[in-house]
Amino acid sequence: MANNAYEALVKEFMAKIIAKNPAETEFHQAVEEVVESLVPYIEENPKYKAAKILERICEPERVILFRIPWLDDKGEVQVNKGFRIEMNSAIGPYKGGLRFHPTVNLGILKFLAFEQVFKNSLTTLPMGGGKGGSDFDPKGKSDNEVMHFCQSFMSELFRHVGPNTDVPAGDIGVGGREIGFLFGQYKRLRNEFTGVLTGKGREWGGSLIRPEATGYGATYFAEEMLKTRGESIKGKVVAISGSGNVAQFATEKVTEFGGKVVTLSDSSGYIYDPNGIDKEKLEYVMHLKNIKRGRIKEYAEKYGVEYHEGLRPWGVKCDIAMPCATQNEINGDEAKTLVDNGCYVISEGANMPSTPDAVNIFLEARILYGPGKAANAGGVAVSGLEMSQNSLRLSWTREEVDSKLHQIMKDIHATCEKFGRDGDFIDYVQGANIGGFVKVADAMMAQGVV
Ligand code: NDP
Repeated sequence: MANNAYEALVKEFMAKIIAKNPAETEFHQAVEEVVESLVPYIEENPKYKAAKILERICEPERVILFRIPWLDDKGEVQVNKGFRIEMNSAIGPYKGGLRFHPTVNLGILKFLAFEQVFKNSLTTLPMGGGKGGSDFDPKGKSDNEVMHFCQSFMSELFRHVGPNTDVPAGDIGVGGREIGFLFGQYKRLRNEFTGVLTGKGREWGGSLIRPEATGYGATYFAEEMLKTRGESIKGKVVAISGSGNVAQFATEKVTEFGGKVVTLSDSSGYIYDPNGIDKEKLEYVMHLKNIKRGRIKEYAEKYGVEYHEGLRPWGVKCDIAMPCATQNEINGDEAKTLVDNGCYVISEGANMPSTPDAVNIFLEARILYGPGKAANAGGVAVSGLEMSQNSLRLSWTREEVDSKLHQIMKDIHATCEKFGRDGDFIDYVQGANIGGFVKVADAMMAQGVV
């Protein structure tokens, strides 16, 4: 079939998705990117077409929407929206994080849940896909307010989740503190101590390396991509965005591998430290962001480096870029600037951080572009390992978990290469989409029309 025939099929399919899910722009974007890869594959494998796998995989199995009323420190009633998208359970219980951020809406969570299905399949572990969260903004709230909110959130969510049903984790705005409050409330309501959430504290069922996993994994993935050209991270200049969980541990592992991280950011701006963010400076960032809950600008004041208010770090000259903040944080112009400045490796710690224009620029430039659903799968992979340890009632050492994580990232790279190699170029988008799809699609076929 000719390329324009595939394009017509994608257009026809997307018209239906947009009509059925109006105003969910991020969901449309995520589906289109996957469908572009899958349509030619499905035409070659018509059994999936007859079973309407593509139509089914784009429709969540269940969407739960609920009210979260809570009392703030002044005794005033606040109301937020709560969501859980149970997207696909063909290969295991729903699994995916919770996001607390004022921008959260149905379309954003559906895009994240959709991507999660393919990502979880790529990890080789038995996990379905889900995502959830709230438009609650933890910024500026006291610990007490965050706890009251989390307790109210779980007072509804507890009836829908469980260790064999749906196992949420953290995402933007949900770290160890929030997982603790959510777990405490679940345990109280259910009167059982089970692995219902991942990202738990070490003393109460958490896994070593889970906090580090996404940032470490995205770095391992970058290293695997570089290996295909006989290179490594050592000596490379790396631009990272964000300064939260993923950005912090990507900085740690890149530095350990001998790379130099020169930028970090938050939603207010970015810092540029040409000497590199070494171990001691990273410790400062971790304290600033995780304990003091301050702004990245304070780094520039402390170390006397440049701070660029309201900007993203993609104008900085670098060899490797690791977007680790949020969706659509690299647009077409920024992608062009990166490539023009000599950047030739992108390893996405965040989910869908590159717009479709940016992705096209990376693919046309034939650089090493690792999309989030492959590059950031390390987080959910170690969540899967946390579930295994909870079921076994055992805990593995740091070395054991890290070596399993490293192997999983190598296997994901190999899957992307298997389905994405085209001569001397690896299209990791194609590789991740098809590689993630096949296992889920085959499981759906085996389970009948459900
Ligand atoms: P955190 O909440 O720990 O950190 C998020 C960082 O990104 C903060 O620096 C935040 O700045 C910045 N940020 C958030 N929203 C925006 C925005 N709209 N514009 C600009 N900057 C923004 O989250 P994580 O590090 O956990 O997550 C980062 C990304 O990684 C997300 O895309 C997430 O989905 C993805 N991811 C996370 C995984 C995990 O294990 N945590 C697993 C896989 C993917 P500020 O403080 O100013 O808001």
